Amino acid sequence: MPELRKDSITGRWVIIATDRAKRPHQHGSAATEPCPFCSGNEAMTPPEVLAYRRSSGDSNAPGWSLRVVSNKYPAFEQTVRYQARNDGLLESTNSVGVHEVIIESPEHVTDIGSLSKEHIVLVLRAYQQRLRHWRGDPRWQYLMIFKNQGEQAGASLEHVHSQLVALPAIPKDIVDQVDRMSKHRETTGQCIYCEMIKKEIECRERVICLNQRFVALCPYASRFSYEICILPIDHRPVFEDILEQEMTPLADTLRDTLARLSLVANNPPYNLVIHTSPKLASADGHYHWHMEIMPQLTRAAGFEWGSGMHINAVAPETAARSLRDARI
Ligand SMILES: [Zn+2]
Ligand SMILES: [Zn+2]
Ligand SMILES: [Zn+2]
Repeated sequence: MPELRKDSITGRWVIIATDRAKRPHQHGSAATEPCPFCSGNEAMTPPEVLAYRRSSGDSNAPGWSLRVVSNKYPAFEQTVRYQARNDGLLESTNSVGVHEVIIESPEHVTDIGSLSKEHIVLVLRAYQQRLRHWRGDPRWQYLMIFKNQGEQAGASLEHVHSQLVALPAIPKDIVDQVDRMSKHRETTGQCIYCEMIKKEIECRERVICLNQRFVALCPYASRFSYEICILPIDHRPVFEDILEQEMTPLADTLRDTLARLSLVANNPPYNLVIHTSPKLASADGHYHWHMEIMPQLTRAAGFEWGSGMHINAVAPETAARSLRDARI
């Protein structure tokens, strides 16, 4: 049973989840075990909670184009009651939450960028559907979608997939970010993201690509080389409220951006995160959802761990120019 422990000095929470060490690892030609995410191996995963099928086939059997299942080795468990313990400086709770896996293709594809645009729309639809499902549940305050691409980015299985977590509390970093956004709004009357997007589009220096609805750019203070942020140009607080007419432009932007990244940085491992509005009164209607792509070309080392600051060897202006000029 995973446990959440609070560091009483930094205020950070840590998840102690020893079962995670039992996860299967499978990468490249060294893989000998069957892949639990491939079509035909449905019995190797927990039962599906959502699946898209071309025809009305049986559940947990081949014929699907996308499946969502509970994580077999969860960092969070929803079956238990929330229990907080506080023994002076030793504060902990049981790790209550939702942890799901979105299996994005029945075939053994290893990168979302190689799926068709139409298939990426299906993936976005699944994100939307699962996030909507959990947003309505009063137990969860924070929802997040993330993807680990490549072994160095933390993926234990190479078959294309992403993960959803729903947590009973909002992580400290997110609360801090929302506080900053609120302060900016109080002094300027503006959403800090909307303002930043407008400035970046005017200046163009850090813009990678752009359509009527979405922009992909390298953030001004990028922590990672070739870090990318994809944002809706209009103010949109909640990812899962995405409009039908925004699906294809988003899939286009994501596919285009990943193709550029793969070409310029030689198919790098990366982490992708969707930040959607937390359930916090000060964020309500004011958050601006976005997708962050963080290539892992170097390892965080002593300086980063000791200071919390990142050293980035590629200026975001240079990164954006290379990505923009890539001939995909
Ligand atoms: Zn597979
Ligand atoms: Zn905004
Ligand atoms: Zn973010």
